[in-house]
Amino acid sequence: MSKETLIQNIRTIKDFPIPGIMFKDVTTLFKDPKLLKELSDLMYEKYKDKGITKVVGIESRGFIMGPILATRLNAGFIPIRKPGKLPSETIEQSYDKEYGKDIIQIHKDALSEEDVVLIHDDLLATGGTMKAAYQLVEKFHTKDIYINFIIELLDLKGKELFENNEKIDSILSI
Ligand code: AMP
Repeated sequence: MSKETLIQNIRTIKDFPIPGIMFKDVTTLFKDPKLLKELSDLMYEKYKDKGITKVVGIESRGFIMGPILATRLNAGFIPIRKPGKLPSETIEQSYDKEYGKDIIQIHKDALSEEDVVLIHDDLLATGGTMKAAYQLVEKFHTKDIYINFIIELLDLKGKELFENNEKIDSILSI
């Protein structure tokens, strides 16, 4: 299956959740078993040899492919969530996003210095969300941090927010 087929199957919704946003809806990829399997295979191939011990997924669309990938990599899964959702002690980071401001949190004991981390989210827009997630994960002084998206919106140049961007990758660029 070509990446073009995957791209063609992403649904675009104009003016969601606010006017001016062209929302990329990945649920149309997830609902088709062949597309979901292809996505899972492509992600697994990219990270199978990196020694990933924890996949960190960002609420909420990072909670779909994140655990699928973690299972295939024999890694654990760690959620990054919006405030008030994680039950134990947390650390947090605030950030700007394409449509508004937000805060994210992770459990204080989620990671250790022995971990090799892959942070996953569905989409890279301005990069603010992932930058905040990266800053949270950095506090744990893990061995390495990789970043992965299903989709990167090239026009928004989100990658430029990161100094060391060779470890940032996306399955599809549009
Ligand atoms: P950003 O912080 O600007 O990179 O925004 C990324 C986050 O917002 C991701 O969690 C996406 O799910 C969501 N997001 C931002 N823009 C879009 C868009 N155009 N289509 C779908 N999701 C988006």
